Amino acid sequence: MPKNPYRPYSPNPEFLALLGDYRGNPVNGLGETHHRPPAMVWWAPDMDAVSFGQAQLWFYQHEKPDEEMVDLRTRRKEAVESPLPPVAPEKTSRSPDDWTAELKQFVDAGDCEMTGVARMRPEWVYEHEQNDLPNVVMLGVQHDFEELRHVPELRGGKDVTRQYLRAAKVAKKVAAWVRSQGWQAEAVTGPMVGKILMIPPAIECGFGELGKHGSIINPEFGSAFRLGAVLTDAPFAPTPQREFGIDDFCTRCKVCENACPPIAIKPEKQTVRGTEKWYVDFDECIPFFAETSGCAICIAVCPWSRPDVGFNLVEKLARRAERLASG
Ligand code: SF4
Ligand code: SF4
Repeated sequence: MPKNPYRPYSPNPEFLALLGDYRGNPVNGLGETHHRPPAMVWWAPDMDAVSFGQAQLWFYQHEKPDEEMVDLRTRRKEAVESPLPPVAPEKTSRSPDDWTAELKQFVDAGDCEMTGVARMRPEWVYEHEQNDLPNVVMLGVQHDFEELRHVPELRGGKDVTRQYLRAAKVAKKVAAWVRSQGWQAEAVTGPMVGKILMIPPAIECGFGELGKHGSIINPEFGSAFRLGAVLTDAPFAPTPQREFGIDDFCTRCKVCENACPPIAIKPEKQTVRGTEKWYVDFDECIPFFAETSGCAICIAVCPWSRPDVGFNLVEKLARRAERLASG
């Protein structure tokens, strides 16, 4: 195995003591062969209400104080908690395709870099939540790779917080716009758990494929982006799922596996709540993740995340597929 500057790694005993008997893999449904709704495994909005709350609090409290990080988190909290305007009494009418085309205004304004739409599915809703809105608008905000590449140092972590702030702002802005058109809309913002899982609808609406490191990858942005969402009854047209051969690429690549300090990224897919997929071992990941204010090494080292690399990789994959097809 190649040298890793963070190995050998031993979890912080203070963090482990706060975590106690809590284990996230069973909560996530690792090894379960039946489908069921997802349960909250981490990022509880109310830390007093969950058994892992003190461990989650440690994530924030053990860091060296940093003025810019405090400011970013304060602004993110304000964005998340900002109220939405009431729904306008008159419903604006436009075709589903026109609704979806309107989302481009938020990319043009620099609020986000990606938009897409999926039909809502019950299996994306957390077990403790309810949703009756039929559509989900997905929003992607791109990292500044020059900042992200410094993870797990605080400089990289600040860009993660900066992008979650942008994601919260754009989700609120899109929800406010939909409401101004007379339709229901609710914003879903990370990293705290909201109503729904965000990765599955993001894959379904064409943002990319699930990588071995448990995050989405696409040729434009690699894994260097964060998600926001808007639940709505406005009649948006769904955008198509897209595949680039990344799933197959991950079966042959080991970059994130080798870079992950606690060896949380496994070489094989796992069965999770009835679906076979790439899965990061939560219980291996979380101590290093918490000690480093969010780690993110796996997304920063992924070759797809390097600027301007993704489309070349897609071309190479297409040539490889042609060679294999022609024998
Ligand atoms: S976030 Fe860090 S610890 Fe967790 S899987 Fe990625 S590289 Fe490993
Ligand atoms: S580093 Fe390699 S194996 Fe890991 S997610 Fe990226 S492409 Fe897939």
